Amino acid sequence: MAKKKHSTNYPEPTRLFFPEAEKSVEWLPMLLDAYAIADKTIHTSVEKELKKGRRLACAKGCNSCCTTHVTIPVYPLELAGIYWFVMEQLKGEAFGVIQQQLARFSPGAGCPFLLSGGCGIHPMRPLACRHFNVFDRPCSEGEDPFYTRRNDVLTPDEKGKEKALMAMLPYHGITERAEKREVIRKGLIHNTVKNMQEIEWVKLAQRMVAAG
Ligand code: SF4
Ligand code: SF4
Repeated sequence: MAKKKHSTNYPEPTRLFFPEAEKSVEWLPMLLDAYAIADKTIHTSVEKELKKGRRLACAKGCNSCCTTHVTIPVYPLELAGIYWFVMEQLKGEAFGVIQQQLARFSPGAGCPFLLSGGCGIHPMRPLACRHFNVFDRPCSEGEDPFYTRRNDVLTPDEKGKEKALMAMLPYHGITERAEKREVIRKGLIHNTVKNMQEIEWVKLAQRMVAAG
């Protein structure tokens, strides 16, 4: 007898589109493709756990991880995406609040993009934020479950993670499949990573002021 499929009601992610900007910002489709691959991979990995009866603890409004985690890696293309999103897409109150938070930012503090309603750069949040998913119960204040209960933290499929990184490589002039595989295999792309905390966010804040 065929096994009955267990449905999870966990919504399928879809690729984000910024049609006008994607015509003029050469690298933007590349980044959105990479994020679409990552989101699909995460979806598959999360669903696998949900089908085992686990519950995803991450949900809208839950964001203590954004103030606790101070070692969030960001790749150069992701950084370009954050700059672009902040300068071109952020509007109104969110623009002002984030500008202030970036101006005041000092390493060790929580993420400067966190707003009261959640992530202020949600479509452009880095792979590290996308990959970090926790099961069964939300993190306690100040808790990093990677260290306190590793089994409750999602381990996304490695191949899917690699595919998302491969999709970013043309940004570095690497377009041949064989070369891409080699760069990923040797982990060379990780040499380009910066810690979100090490970025001089004050410069972005100044740019925002100049843009009015
Ligand atoms: S990682 Fe923890 S704090 Fe962040 S959304 Fe998930 S459960 Fe909430
Ligand atoms: S980028 Fe967004 S999701 Fe990531 S730590 Fe900052 S506020 Fe949280």
